[in-house]
Amino acid sequence: MKRICVFCGSSMGNNGVYREAAEALGLFIATTGMGLVYGGARVGLMKVLADKMLEQNGEVIGVMPQLLINKEVAHDGLSHFVVVESMAERKAHMLELSDGFIALPGGFGTLDELSEILTYNQLHITDKPMGLLNINGYFDRLLAFIEHGVDEGFIRKEHLLNLIVSDNIEALFSKMEAYQPVGMGKWIKDIHQESNNK
Ligand code: AMP
Repeated sequence: MKRICVFCGSSMGNNGVYREAAEALGLFIATTGMGLVYGGARVGLMKVLADKMLEQNGEVIGVMPQLLINKEVAHDGLSHFVVVESMAERKAHMLELSDGFIALPGGFGTLDELSEILTYNQLHITDKPMGLLNINGYFDRLLAFIEHGVDEGFIRKEHLLNLIVSDNIEALFSKMEAYQPVGMGKWIKDIHQESNNK
């Protein structure tokens, strides 16, 4: 993977471990020679991550819609800054520029971006690995909810393989490098069949 896109909070979180994780991730991406793609902000964990990358002379590409630039949250020290029209265009651009994705703790913005990649991988619109860095067990309840979705028949068990989870940066990258996209044929056949039977 040459470029990693990181989704993470525009907030800092209430516990210093989140900030430390964003710094450690920035350090890892820069020192292994990869570039970073992210939302382009100078707030929250996004700022911590970008600043750590820049401190290590890493490549940082920010992608931000004009509406957020108008709110003065843009980072002005990045290697490249791409201005787009909408949040949807931003995600499409991030997807094009990146070879893999990582979600750090964050809020609805992070969950939206994470869900979009998982949905796209499920539909084979893309097949780039999606990693979840589960710092401090932040995502435990989301993971439990996803299991609930499997138990209730709304998420297919094989699609759990599209979400790569670890609380350790190096282990997460190793798993992402080994990612094999989940085939789509059986799923489509199954949903047709269950819809005809019920
Ligand atoms: P959240 O997780 O709700 O804090 O949102 C952060 C994620 O959504 C980031 O990965 C960004 O791409 C996007 N985002 C949401 N709010 C902002 C913001 N104020 N500035 C820049 N990006 C944002």
